[in-house]
Amino acid sequence: AKRVYLFSEGNKDDRELLGGKGANLCEMTSMGLPVPFGFVITTATCREYFQAGNKLPSLLEQEYRVALDLVEKKMGARFGDPENPLLFSVRSGAPVSMPGMMNTILNLGLNDEIAAGLAVKTNNPRFAYDSYRRFISMFADVVMGVPGEKFEHEIEKYKQAHGKTFDVDMSAEDWQEVISIYKTLVDFPEDPFQQLKMAVEAVFQSWHTPRAIIYREMNNIADTLGTAVNVQAMVFGNFGDDSGSGVAFTRNPSTGEKMFFGEFLFNAAGEDVVAGIRTPLPVDALKERQPDVYEELYKTQALLEKHYRDMQDLEFTVQEGRFYMLQTRSGKRTGRAAVKIAVDMVGEGLINEKEALMRVSPEHVEAFLHPTVDPQAKTDIVATGLPASPGGATGEIVFSAEEAEEVASQGRSVILVRRETTPEDIHGMKVAAGILTELGGMTSHAAVVARGMGVCAITGCGTLSINYADGSAHTDDGVVLKRGDTITLDGTSGEVMLGDIPKIEASSSDDFQTLLSWADKHRRLKVRANAETPEDAAKARELGAEGIGLCRTEHMFFEATRIEKMRAMILSESKEERQQYLDELLEFQRQDMLELFRAMDGLPVTIRLLDPPLHEFLPHEEHEMQALADAVGKPLEKIREITEGLSEVNPMLGFRGCRLSIVYPEITEMQVKAIMTAAVDAVEQGIKPMPEIMIPLVVNVREIRLITEIIDRGVQEVLRERQVSVPYKVGTMMETPRATLGADRLAPEVEFMSFGTNDLTQMTYGFSRDDVGKFIPSYIEKKIVDSDPFVSLDQRAVGRLMEMAVQESRRVKKGIKYGICGEHGGDPRSIRFCHNLGLDYVSCSPYRVPIARMAAAQAHV
Ligand code: ADP
Ligand code: MG
Ligand code: MG
Repeated sequence: AKRVYLFSEGNKDDRELLGGKGANLCEMTSMGLPVPFGFVITTATCREYFQAGNKLPSLLEQEYRVALDLVEKKMGARFGDPENPLLFSVRSGAPVSMPGMMNTILNLGLNDEIAAGLAVKTNNPRFAYDSYRRFISMFADVVMGVPGEKFEHEIEKYKQAHGKTFDVDMSAEDWQEVISIYKTLVDFPEDPFQQLKMAVEAVFQSWHTPRAIIYREMNNIADTLGTAVNVQAMVFGNFGDDSGSGVAFTRNPSTGEKMFFGEFLFNAAGEDVVAGIRTPLPVDALKERQPDVYEELYKTQALLEKHYRDMQDLEFTVQEGRFYMLQTRSGKRTGRAAVKIAVDMVGEGLINEKEALMRVSPEHVEAFLHPTVDPQAKTDIVATGLPASPGGATGEIVFSAEEAEEVASQGRSVILVRRETTPEDIHGMKVAAGILTELGGMTSHAAVVARGMGVCAITGCGTLSINYADGSAHTDDGVVLKRGDTITLDGTSGEVMLGDIPKIEASSSDDFQTLLSWADKHRRLKVRANAETPEDAAKARELGAEGIGLCRTEHMFFEATRIEKMRAMILSESKEERQQYLDELLEFQRQDMLELFRAMDGLPVTIRLLDPPLHEFLPHEEHEMQALADAVGKPLEKIREITEGLSEVNPMLGFRGCRLSIVYPEITEMQVKAIMTAAVDAVEQGIKPMPEIMIPLVVNVREIRLITEIIDRGVQEVLRERQVSVPYKVGTMMETPRATLGADRLAPEVEFMSFGTNDLTQMTYGFSRDDVGKFIPSYIEKKIVDSDPFVSLDQRAVGRLMEMAVQESRRVKKGIKYGICGEHGGDPRSIRFCHNLGLDYVSCSPYRVPIARMAAAQAHV
């Protein structure tokens, strides 16, 4: 297969083969935009390289030399020719954007002789040697493994010795001196073709750097894709004061506002902007100094956004007043921006509603659900930087990624404070509640990565001086922040505050509501919530829940006065005694249910009968036992005896779920009476209750029959006595493998089946839910499982059981409603699976409801 494509040979749909960057370079070339010419070596070649045990295909060099000749013709310069040299950038580019994760080498093709030739030809020795020193350090770092800091350090030393402060103070002669020092640190190949070959290989290799691997893990990107290599003619932002480099977004990536937004550095290479070494100027500076260039840039960004029908993130360079495009891609954005842009673009007629839905990820939705700093409460603002990534966060100051990891692993919230961040810091950024940097703009590494992760961040906080050595930072006003101090960041305003400042719950926006209304219009799957308290139920409804899919009745009994009655009930030694306490519990349960019906007026409320092992309710401490003994008037010894009698070797597989109803039918009778009395009360108050009683942990149809009998009898008793009719349903949880395998036998007895995928996963794997923490991380790391099956549904086996259960039960009875109420009900991947399975609803925690609504729509469009 063809391994090398000229920029004139591909287009934007070739991202798989040419990588995102390469495909877009091709597309821009064919749009007639000023892209320095070049060629792409395919991702397939990268895979080939790894398969061959890290060996370049033998014909590859021949193949790219053909392309290289054509680039030389087009550019009117020759690679390796000292009289008229052509230089290349060698850039990585994966099918999925991984900004800054892999390696780029610039100014490739220089050696002593060619650098001298470049100086003569351009009549700009300072530029030539600045480029040469950049090349040496980059090549040494990326290809030869000599750390970049070594070179930085030499520059610092040289500047100090010669009384220079900034790079612009360095003359051609200064750079030549620096180069001669560099050459004592590294022995790099003089032959440009040798350089090229090594660079191509190094880009392939960079697919496997630890930071790239972490990034892929975090973003669920397949390890097998590989990267393309883009070999592109260089243009030079460091040529002089009429040159420079910039980064821009077609809309504001933080707010989504439709306003061109960019940053620019005069007389600088693009790497200087991205690295955040100097804080760039707003792109308006270009408008003043080079209005023609600005005009071209402005037109180009508008054209690209229209062409791609999405917000674009651009990299461009100006050399001697001429404008060049180096990259375009769909820009990373905050959740708020994603929603605003999607909704605005529908309004502008650029995309339709379904496309808009696909532009917003679950993480984006979360941004509407994250806290922000309460503006009323703001005090002690000690510094202000750029509002790089919104939200509010409080934590202890740490100064390195390692520290961040360590402190966070102790369950404490950290704010990572750095001069700037690099991809090496990812592991610390991942665990930080917030990120604060002294340098860098809105497009610096820290800003881009934090926005992507939805972590609050402030960058370019120039009034802060960080001293890594003694673990402190001081502001221009003399405030000293030490390691371990608590600060609060407001990533929306850029303010840094002392102490823990109160935050307010995330608020919605009109755009967000519009988008969710489109989601509702374009989904089939219903979304319910798991809730027990009236507050949670109300919140869930506000967030769009269409009922309760799981009310765990035992949670209603954990409150202090109730648990005492519960304990007394469990410890009862006769049926009469038990009944007395059950009557008291009934009243609590009735009140709670009434409130739930009120909150969910007109919507179904699925109530699960008591599920957990009874001893979970019992006291374990000596003093608790004594208190209970006093309360029920029994000797301590007796309490201890009963408690011990109830303890189980394996409670999760023990005396729980519907087994309780079988042994103690009176508990179920109480629950049913409470539910139905509440339902009748509700009707009398003008509320429309829709109770659905759910039997947990069923393994066998006879359990269902026996318990349904109890339920029906209880229901009829209440309805007859109160002379009111209330529609109700009886169904079962599907959470044991045996239940799913015998679904056809259960079907005739139930009106709904709700997959309890927490227990179903536990029993399918034989992995204890409460103990997986000890080994799942190793399973994931060793790639035995792709992800934690308790987080994202295991489609192969657990999903298979669900599928069989749906098919088999449907075969014997039509009209059964199917739902899922495990944690997976709020996981977008699992939601998609449930949609495809034809379930009727998912049920998840209240705050996941908007995400579930979006995910359900995305599964359908
Ligand atoms: P990343 O994937 O990390 O963004 P890039 O391949 O875009 O890496 O390269 C980083 C920077 O190098 C670019 O932003 C650009 O400023 C500079 N660069 C890349 N290719 C060229 C080129 N042909 N001419 C000038 N600068 C370039
Ligand atoms: Mg790169
Ligand atoms: Mg780039």
